[in-house]
Amino acid sequence: MKVVVVGAGVGGLAAAHDLNRAGHEVVIYEAADRVGGLASGFKDTNWDWSVERYYHHWFATDRYILDLIDEFGWSDDVIFPRPTTAVFHNEKFYPLDSALAVLRFPGIPFFDRLRLGAVIAYLKLTPNWKPLERVTADSWIRKWVGHNGYEVIWKPLLVGKFGPHYQDVNMAWFWARFKARTPRLGTFKGGFQALLDRLADELRQRGVRILLNQPVDQIRGQTDGGISIISSEETAVFDKCLSTTSPAILARTTPSLPKQYLEQLLQLKSMGAVVLILALKHPLSEDGVYWHNLPKASGFPFLSLVEHTNFLPRQHFGGDHIVYCGDYLEEDHEYFSLTKEELLERFLPAFSRINKKFQPDWVRETWLFKTSYAQPVPPLNHSQAIPSIKTPLDGLWFASMSQIYPWDRGTNFAVQICRQAAKQMLAQA
Ligand SMILES: Cc1cc2nc3c(=O)[nH]c(=O)nc-3n(C[C@H](O)[C@H](O)[C@H](O)COP(=O)(O)OP(=O)(O)OC[C@H]3O[C@@H](n4cnc5c(N)ncnc54)[C@H](O)[C@@H]3O)c2cc1C
Repeated sequence: MKVVVVGAGVGGLAAAHDLNRAGHEVVIYEAADRVGGLASGFKDTNWDWSVERYYHHWFATDRYILDLIDEFGWSDDVIFPRPTTAVFHNEKFYPLDSALAVLRFPGIPFFDRLRLGAVIAYLKLTPNWKPLERVTADSWIRKWVGHNGYEVIWKPLLVGKFGPHYQDVNMAWFWARFKARTPRLGTFKGGFQALLDRLADELRQRGVRILLNQPVDQIRGQTDGGISIISSEETAVFDKCLSTTSPAILARTTPSLPKQYLEQLLQLKSMGAVVLILALKHPLSEDGVYWHNLPKASGFPFLSLVEHTNFLPRQHFGGDHIVYCGDYLEEDHEYFSLTKEELLERFLPAFSRINKKFQPDWVRETWLFKTSYAQPVPPLNHSQAIPSIKTPLDGLWFASMSQIYPWDRGTNFAVQICRQAAKQMLAQA
């Protein structure tokens, strides 16, 4: 077969690996000038390791991506430090990433801490998520964790991730976060981009063609069941196609999909993300914390402050202290129209709240990244609204972050769903 994959993110690369290994001819079209998609990284001139455009790490339970790495014999390059995650409360940060930390957290009464611990234990232990998608996380948590625990700890998380949609999100999504997450966090030596480049090199050596800077403008079904791919450079015909883009891009590039499937694609909601990265001359947080959750109500102009060099040694980054300031926002939020200088000006006062000694001249360099597709929003009974991996168009499959439900989006599940799509394509070969 002649197969085309649209998108060279981690999912597209993993699917291309399986399709190529099964003996088929594989071409990947990628709109960007690099492989890696949302998980891609960049390097400043003085860095040995790349930094992800959007903060990235793995959990110890991320077996699909870790197995893929293992298949290539690269597991020795996976590292799993144990950084600290903390939440902001009354002008201080408190670690909240272990049972003991929850018991010690002074932000809610002791009885509520016990209640919170019991609910976390229940969510970790129950395998049964289906009934949970029939209730919103907002109402379920309010009921079982109580007012204090919800208002101080979990509501800020929901509001931060889903903004105006926070009361729409179902409880199965929240369950999945507890089920799949671990305090140990992993990465690849050299950064995620090092892994993605290695994967792409391996595919190229085995004959896969990766066409960078080649956005697909249209995907069209042929009368004989084949698929034609139209880009500004060429029109080419393939036996089968896997699109790994967002639902909105699939709908735009493939208007000939049946109306019902198109409507399903367009009904899916998601949040965008805006991330400002700073290279600092000094550490920002004085407590060595990696991940700082900042409740919106505390007035910070962003949601997460992620000090990458409290996760990985700064020696890999030319001695710079790397800090991400990230937020999940709707596409029409004004941050999407601001320059990195304008955004930095808005963010500067917040850094003094985190470290009183902070001075603007600590900032050596900044980078700004924005994406309109960062976090799918799963409403009630979402399992019934997910578009199938096999689209109704002959020869066309679709795998995206919006379909990995109830799991939260991540490279692990991108690998899983795209390999699942490749398996279906091979079964029909
Ligand atoms: C802020 C943020 C934080 C995250 N944190 C983590 C984390 O800590 N850990 C983790 O594992 N995951 C994390 N993720 C999620 C992770 O990045 C994604 O789940 C994963 O990278 C998705 O891979 P993918 O291949 O499915 O899609 P993508 O990476 O989106 O790849 C799709 C590719 O398609 C290309 N494309 C789009 N349109 C076209 C077109 N018309 N023609 C050709 N190519 C096209 C795009 O350029 C892109 O390269 C995070 C994501 C965000 C936004």
